[in-house]
Amino acid sequence: MSDFQLQKHPHRRLNALTSEWVLVSPHRTQRPWQGQTEDRPSSSTPPYDPACYMCPGNHRAGGAQNPVYTSTYVFDNDYPALLLDTPIGGSDLQGLLVAKAEPGLCRVMCFSPRHDRSLSQMAVGEVRLVVDVWTQQYEEMGAMPRLNYVQIFENRGAMMGCSNPHPHCQIWGSTSMPNEPLKEQAAQSEYLSRTGSCLVCDYVTAERRAKERIVAENHHFMAVVPFWAVWPFEVLLLPFRHIASLRELSVAERDSLSAILRQVTSGYDRLFDVAFPYSMGFHQQPTDGQTHPEWHMHAHFFPPLLRSATVRKFMVGYEMLGTPQRDITPETAAERLREKFATNQTDQG
Ligand SMILES: [Zn+2]
Ligand SMILES: [Zn+2]
Ligand SMILES: [Zn+2]
Repeated sequence: MSDFQLQKHPHRRLNALTSEWVLVSPHRTQRPWQGQTEDRPSSSTPPYDPACYMCPGNHRAGGAQNPVYTSTYVFDNDYPALLLDTPIGGSDLQGLLVAKAEPGLCRVMCFSPRHDRSLSQMAVGEVRLVVDVWTQQYEEMGAMPRLNYVQIFENRGAMMGCSNPHPHCQIWGSTSMPNEPLKEQAAQSEYLSRTGSCLVCDYVTAERRAKERIVAENHHFMAVVPFWAVWPFEVLLLPFRHIASLRELSVAERDSLSAILRQVTSGYDRLFDVAFPYSMGFHQQPTDGQTHPEWHMHAHFFPPLLRSATVRKFMVGYEMLGTPQRDITPETAAERLREKFATNQTDQG
């Protein structure tokens, strides 16, 4: 009989979605902090900022003027990382110096005309409008012949390198699949061919059985600190039904997604009593015209905060050169989040 305990002994866990490992060091949680602390971000954001290039009616740096929009607003990024008219081509020197043209399209989406209203502060009905536009954009960009993959993502907070506090996300369409969903696609394909069932469907069942890491749940979605979480308070949002993209959500599922997004983001804000920084985004099946029975859509939240509003986790040293590592276990993180996510919420409509 082994004495090994997940909550006590150093170990590594496999990320079933990426086939990568994470090192967990539960015995280290008491070590004193002598590293960098961040300034607590100021919490006074005005509802309208005349200098913001996303606020309604304002001029953008590229010269365009925003309409006086009243709910969401999507525009092509004025300084895009990808361009649709990039000529096809590439180079390959002995398989060592390999390059490929990457046509693509980058859009920006404002969640609300309000400069100071984040997802966590919007009413569920307003979040639902955001979900609807995400779905439209996924369909519209995915239907463009050169765009085989659509990535929706939000960087929230200066700590995540977000340059503008106006609540917004970005939607990038690309010809190739980016690294992260590509790894997940490989793992999901391999699992399907090996077991005949869906990796994420089986993971949902396993987490419901374990009951240790679920932090929120409604009729159609669950939020869980994944078994293999790297970031201290990482959350994975999973639909119960086997669906490959936002496009397949029913009306009731869109409502449930909106509700759990509101619940997760506002719960995060309560954790350290701060506008919680994170990168979040959806992973969905590619828009390459193929069928993808292996794909089960989901959303990730990767927040950098470690133990307070001012102490962040850095991925450096061993994590850059070896394997990501965490101290607080996913189970302990889930316990703390569950308290904050469970608070009865009323819409601040
Ligand atoms: Zn603004
Ligand atoms: Zn599934
Ligand atoms: Zn994913």
